[in-house]
Amino acid sequence: MLPAVEQLIRDHRQKLNTLLDDQSDLNFESLVVPVELMEHELGRVWSPVTHLQSVLGSRDWRDAYNQALPLLTEHGTEISQNAKLQSAYAGVEASLGEAAGEARRSAVEHALREFHLAGVDLPEADKDRFKEIMQSLAAAQASFEHNIQDATDAWSLHIQDIEELSGIPKQAMERAAEHAQEKQLEGWLWALDYPSYDSIMTHAHNRQLREIFYRAWSTRGSDQGDSAAWDNSENIISILALRHEAANLVGFESYADYSLATKMAGSSDEVLNFLRELSARSRNAAERELADLQDFAGMQLQPWDLTFWLEKYKQSRFSVSNEELRQYFPARTVINGLFALAGRLYGVELIELNDVAMWHEDARYFAVRNDVDEVIGGFYIDIYARNGKRNGAWVDECVSRQNLDGKAELPVGYLVCNFPPLDDAGLSLLTHDDVVTLFHEFGHMMHHLLTRIDLPSISGINGVPWDAVELPSQFMENFAWNYDVLRKCSAHPESGAPLPRDLFDKLEQSRNAGAGLAMLRQLELAMFDFRLHAEYEPDKSIDVLEMLQSVRDEVSLLEHPPYNRLPHAFSHIFAGGYAAGYYSYKWAEVLAADAFAAFEEAGIFDPATAQRFRREILEIGGSRDIMQAYIAFRGRKPSIDALLRQDGINDA
Ligand SMILES: [Zn+2]
Repeated sequence: MLPAVEQLIRDHRQKLNTLLDDQSDLNFESLVVPVELMEHELGRVWSPVTHLQSVLGSRDWRDAYNQALPLLTEHGTEISQNAKLQSAYAGVEASLGEAAGEARRSAVEHALREFHLAGVDLPEADKDRFKEIMQSLAAAQASFEHNIQDATDAWSLHIQDIEELSGIPKQAMERAAEHAQEKQLEGWLWALDYPSYDSIMTHAHNRQLREIFYRAWSTRGSDQGDSAAWDNSENIISILALRHEAANLVGFESYADYSLATKMAGSSDEVLNFLRELSARSRNAAERELADLQDFAGMQLQPWDLTFWLEKYKQSRFSVSNEELRQYFPARTVINGLFALAGRLYGVELIELNDVAMWHEDARYFAVRNDVDEVIGGFYIDIYARNGKRNGAWVDECVSRQNLDGKAELPVGYLVCNFPPLDDAGLSLLTHDDVVTLFHEFGHMMHHLLTRIDLPSISGINGVPWDAVELPSQFMENFAWNYDVLRKCSAHPESGAPLPRDLFDKLEQSRNAGAGLAMLRQLELAMFDFRLHAEYEPDKSIDVLEMLQSVRDEVSLLEHPPYNRLPHAFSHIFAGGYAAGYYSYKWAEVLAADAFAAFEEAGIFDPATAQRFRREILEIGGSRDIMQAYIAFRGRKPSIDALLRQDGINDA
């Protein structure tokens, strides 16, 4: 693999240089098509490599992967910083006639936007400063993350009296006991990893213990934590300043505007109004939920009580056990039901091929055939957990669709999950959560496979704005909450009976417990993130905690203790890719719920609605403005009503 990657990079570098040497005669065919094909070729080589690295668990493979990765990163930077390539694209854009078509125009625009956002077209001095900023930013973000990691790793709590630990599930107890043994201690040694934190907050009867964990968790990486060495206060200030300066250099007033340049949401005002409207309309429901919970608990609830009492409340009101549900969802039955649904909605047929090479005996391959019997793509599916396989569930592209040089290639994808391995009876029984996960990933897969776009950089999931990319997947989840669909996805292994109606009813009732409070919590995070990046001014000192308080005054129902330092461990926005983008979670949920409502209005299997969804959303990749596409599907802009209804949040 390594020599193949090296060879490919060498070839591409040479090809690109030759292309750019003769600047006189560059047009779409002579520049964009070969560049697209090179990217495509690289993807065809590299995506199986990363895929196998995730599912194979081979030491040799990982070593080769780790040697190839920096070569590709360097190659990627070389291209994204290539000013000659940028100006060649600009030349092509200027020469694109009216007849060029939306997809071609869009591919060129996307490429130019990437160059611009990476500072390639800046004057020399600014360009150098931009690069400097990016380096400092990368360092500050890494330091932010390390501080959280170090603070978390340094924390522990040793408990010897089992009485203090009542209610905590066995698995978490066993981990803590092992941890104690490793350190030659009696009893239980607790760490601050998320699974431990989560099981204490959800299950520990001991209120004081919950508060200790809450305090440790909410002061990680801050001046309120155990060591000043891990305080992220300065990192936060410099990250905000650097982002603002970079955004200014490439012509944006704020980092929020810079972030929105590649997103579906049109402006800062649009995002803030969206968040404020959701918050205003969820408030009554959240207040009612909190009052109910406090009644149920018989006391005023603090932040470290909420998860615990919500869990107790759910158990007492809608006792529906995962184990009972699991009996009805053998993985193969669920998959067959899901494929039948895809057939009903989109007229596609999924046919298993047995002569395809696989990395493991669990994996299978399906070809996708449309209603006129043409194969339009295919995918690998590998759903059982095993050693050496990365955790979680995901879809990735193996081959993206392209049709540029007369040799069209069809899209191929991977769908990977970590469901329970087959038992002695040859069954893997799924929880309903697992079923929802499978539907979610399958929604991504349909997006990848049903595309009609010929340019790989904007076909399938490629080039789709970040805040819209979860639309097809979250949309698909809704079908896993429909009884007609679940009936066809379920069969008790002994009786063959489908999921009983009364069990489904209980499941459905439990879906929305605490939905209003959860909504406000997400809105608090989203609004804090967005306002921070929209309102930052370099000449004024920014008080991050004051900003947080102002957001909480507007959105939150709970009082937080003064030591709470949420920003200092908010990695999504200070170390990850969600800066001025945390709102995307809710944005995509609104799109998905509103799109599904169109199906509910017409009957959820309505062929005309499904055809329209396929044509306007699933087929277009990144070739069109997604808001315009959405309006073409829905006949109007997205509305938040459907999500509120789906969450059982009735603001009346
Ligand atoms: Zn997803």
